[in-house]
Amino acid sequence: MREIVVVSGKGGTGKTSLTGAFAQLASEKVVCDLDVDAPDLHLLLRPQPEHTEEFFSGHAARIDGGMCTGCGLCASLCRYEAVRIEGGAFSVDPLRCEGCKVCVALCPEGAIHFPEKHCGQWYISSTRFGPLVHARLFPGEANSGRLVMVLKQQARKLAKSLGRGLILSDGTPGIGCPVISSLSGADLAVAVTEPTPSGRHDLERVADLCGHFQIRLSVIINKFDLNPEETEGIQAYCGARGYEVIARLPHDPVVTKAMVRGRVVTELPETAFSVEVRKTWKKIEEIAAKR
Ligand code: SF4
Ligand code: SF4
Repeated sequence: MREIVVVSGKGGTGKTSLTGAFAQLASEKVVCDLDVDAPDLHLLLRPQPEHTEEFFSGHAARIDGGMCTGCGLCASLCRYEAVRIEGGAFSVDPLRCEGCKVCVALCPEGAIHFPEKHCGQWYISSTRFGPLVHARLFPGEANSGRLVMVLKQQARKLAKSLGRGLILSDGTPGIGCPVISSLSGADLAVAVTEPTPSGRHDLERVADLCGHFQIRLSVIINKFDLNPEETEGIQAYCGARGYEVIARLPHDPVVTKAMVRGRVVTELPETAFSVEVRKTWKKIEEIAAKR
């Protein structure tokens, strides 16, 4: 089974629009949206959930009002100022609680419970391009790296049970823990970048990450015609580091048009852009097949 992850050092490069188009073009695959902090592949694929599971991770303190005597020790111990006092009643702000358990251990009345946190949901859905594994992390919740791992495991399980030979993932932007989770076990990372100083800087960071984990990296320069000078800079950087630039895609309003219609670019009447996207996917398949 092959795993291809589409990444970008930063958001807004067109990563998800391209992943959506690749999802239409790829055959015998399971699609996976690993961008659990700000998922948007569902806007293009419009999934119908067939299986939903709750996601629990970490713990948070919760004060039992019936047992609390109001001594105030928990408020003075909490370094995160997570304990609130309203009208003489003590409670914990779940968004501030870091789950350090100090108050739980030291409350003289044993009045503080420490349940697992309900952080979100994950789904297996059907789409017009086949199955999609995706998730929703509740606002303010952390542990997205763990949720990414859950999604990857589920996508592998599903691909195996359906006999699909490819997992195509929309990776997380950035270079933090969720991206590291996104890349684990990948055969190929496809980085989508844009010709801006921040696009180049973030590409370098994601490339270093792929280098560290020995994951082959191919690069797409999106909207290359908006800044030819930066495009040349990125091309030179990739050449020097041995990363293949598999496509230079022009800026094209068809991307926004498709997004507004809840479609992917390759579903709309053919344009020079969508022809390039088709060629790009072919190249990606060839590179991944060599692994
Ligand atoms: S330490 Fe325990 S008893 Fe004291 S205020 Fe906090 S919850 Fe209530
Ligand atoms: S578990 Fe830690 S962070 Fe949370 S309320 Fe208690 S002391 Fe504060």
